[in-house]
Amino acid sequence: MNLILLDPSEVDAHHARITDARRLTHLHDVHRAQQGDRLTVGIQGGAMGKASLITLSQHEALFALEDLCESAPPALPVHLVLALPRPRMLARTLEHVTALGVKEITLLHTKRVEKSYWQSPELRADKIHQHLVLGLEQARDTLLPNVTLCKGFKAFLEGQLPQLLSERRGLVAHPGMENACPRDVDEPTLLLVGPEGGFIPWEVEQLIQAGCDGMHLGPRILRVETAVTALLSRLF
Ligand code: SAM
Repeated sequence: MNLILLDPSEVDAHHARITDARRLTHLHDVHRAQQGDRLTVGIQGGAMGKASLITLSQHEALFALEDLCESAPPALPVHLVLALPRPRMLARTLEHVTALGVKEITLLHTKRVEKSYWQSPELRADKIHQHLVLGLEQARDTLLPNVTLCKGFKAFLEGQLPQLLSERRGLVAHPGMENACPRDVDEPTLLLVGPEGGFIPWEVEQLIQAGCDGMHLGPRILRVETAVTALLSRLF
């Protein structure tokens, strides 16, 4: 937790109060925080800065806020479309991509996504929120990504993709494509990453016909969470 991310409801004009066990335990056990310590805080959706710890008990931490005038770091110019991975990998991937600065995420059904994954508790709004918060706290950011679920590939292709591609360059990550993943991109990009079994050939064809470019990351086939991190690092 490199940033204590505060919900606006925890803050008044000059103070912040937190009472949940997760952050209190972290303050005690990891920060070994003491009265008078100055820690980095940020308000969800807002600014960041320093706050001094007035009191810390097992039940609450009270901070005096200094001038919060630091902005969140810049976002990546990317909308990530991720074929829904298995629940544990989804949790880690959401955390990683949030820490890297992705602000738009679509979780998509494709042929090789296990249908049962859509029933996972990891897809509950509160669980998704938890993973996003961990990513923001890690990277010192305050702006939550938007996560949308799309349970039909054809519906995505016909309904959402044309609009998304009207404002962005589309890139499909797929092993064996002719072109390598580009570097140092600064234009708005739609990045599509397949499920653990990969996109089927028909899906790749449809995405390319719709205007996306296929690209590869070299001969090594990477796990989804590794591939997403490598792709984002290389692209931006
Ligand atoms: N057997 C699957 C295949 O060949 O497509 C492997 C899928 S991989 C575990 C999951 C996703 O990560 C892929 O669909 C792709 O989007 C991305 N990926 C992993 N390694 C890649 C590579 N070397 N080049 C491009 N994309 C890759």
